[in-house]
Amino acid sequence: MDRMKRVKVEEQDPKIRATNFEEVCLGYTQDEAVEEASRCLNCKKPMCVSKCPVAIDIPGFIKHVKNKEFSEAVKVIAKYSALPAVCGRVCPQETQCESKCILGIKGDAIAIGKLERFVGDYSRVHNVDLSETKPKNGIKVAVVGSGPSGLTCAGDLAKAGYDVTIFEALHEAGGVLVYGIPEFRLPKETVVRHEVENVKKLGVKLETNVIVGRTVTINKLMEDEDFKAVFIGSGAGLPMFMGIPGENLNGVFSANEYLTRNNLMKAYKEGYQTPIRTGEKVAVVGGGNVAMDSVRTAVRLGAEGHIVYRRSESELPARAEEVHHAKEEGVIMDLLVNPIEILGDEKGNVIGMKCVRMQLGEPDASGRRRPIAIEGSEFTMDVNTVIMSLGTSPNPLIPLTTEGLSINKRKCIIAEDETGLTSKKNVYAGGDAVSGAATVILAMEAGKKAAKAIDEMLSK
Ligand SMILES: Cc1cc2nc3c(=O)[nH]c(=O)nc-3n(C[C@H](O)[C@H](O)[C@H](O)COP(=O)(O)OP(=O)(O)OC[C@H]3O[C@@H](n4cnc5c(N)ncnc54)[C@H](O)[C@@H]3O)c2cc1C
Repeated sequence: MDRMKRVKVEEQDPKIRATNFEEVCLGYTQDEAVEEASRCLNCKKPMCVSKCPVAIDIPGFIKHVKNKEFSEAVKVIAKYSALPAVCGRVCPQETQCESKCILGIKGDAIAIGKLERFVGDYSRVHNVDLSETKPKNGIKVAVVGSGPSGLTCAGDLAKAGYDVTIFEALHEAGGVLVYGIPEFRLPKETVVRHEVENVKKLGVKLETNVIVGRTVTINKLMEDEDFKAVFIGSGAGLPMFMGIPGENLNGVFSANEYLTRNNLMKAYKEGYQTPIRTGEKVAVVGGGNVAMDSVRTAVRLGAEGHIVYRRSESELPARAEEVHHAKEEGVIMDLLVNPIEILGDEKGNVIGMKCVRMQLGEPDASGRRRPIAIEGSEFTMDVNTVIMSLGTSPNPLIPLTTEGLSINKRKCIIAEDETGLTSKKNVYAGGDAVSGAATVILAMEAGKKAAKAIDEMLSK
């Protein structure tokens, strides 16, 4: 074994996977996981842990994998995270835990994400029991939203003995994990549902189809239903648009709507009635992970998929792995291009997109070089579906219906400190609702910190 080289993980062939919604990465087998775990140096001062927002004992679980004690490895991770099979698949490990692995200085960092995924999957396949909690204390806590922040907060509070209810607006729990991230990166019925079920097995109650701010308000939950504290993990699901002519035409979607139709409403599956444009030529405007998910979904639905991004490849905000996978699957990168108008026919259907070519100037406030339009470079792209993937912000419904809850200019709920305490007594918030669109693991970190603070506050 070459200690400096990472054990390769199998992936579906790009040509085949571009035609299906099965997972791209097939994950390690037991032998491969043990071999990869055996490369770990088990550092005395593990830097990988310092870069994990929920501080998982990474060398601890990897040591168990190395010794083939897989159930023990599951239990180590479960102390810190309820979502190992999710995080093993979607966390940006290359900029977190793996970026600090000593082996990465001269060779390949340990594949911490792939090992975490292996352990999470082992736990599901072998039904490892993780339902241990402290005795119930009967104190009620409400959690708004069942994304990673809400699930984490609810799970940690249930473990500490609280009577927790999650109120979720949609018909299925998981937040972006079920409606946003596509099946080919994160399988829903196996991986996400299992990890949500694990949280429910801790005693957490889940009420779906409840829109807090419409069906019930936070004030009502606290005053009439005896909830002693509330955690708001309602995410940032409100899409942004460019404000250019033609954005109201048939065939223009926000990335959120397009992905929700496909992931949550199963538009790609036979027998499901959700309409979705399969479009011959689809342009996705934006260069982040959500844009890559959208364009790769469009390709799988049979389209020629284009990424239209106003900067160059080195400024693409998406993870390098996502860009690489998208290119392998045949996505066309139209870089240094900016849309200025979407064109429609007399029936209001998209028939093209007018764009302008860009060049890069001096760095702007974000530190990235500013894109500047090149005069006289206008051209028309021949497309019939346009997906806007320009970012999202929190929905203002909860702040608008909750007296005393402050928000900032970006419509994010203001947390007074890192516990997520808001301007309203006994109400905490975290995840994308506070930070704006971020990552799964940062949302989990916020859920954990709030759970700890709620426990300290209520057990005084
Ligand atoms: C397409 C896409 C791909 C992504 N890929 C990655 C990735 O690869 N890696 C990564 O780390 N991050 C990724 N992210 C970001 C990540 O998913 C989010 O940062 C994370 O899910 C935020 O968690 P959250 O709990 O704050 O909110 P969410 O996951 O958004 O969950 C919020 C939940 O609250 C519910 N809700 C909202 N309002 C109400 C209300 N009024 N009443 C009741 N319920 C309500 C929503 O229905 C939702 O279920 C991606 C995001 C998107 C959109």
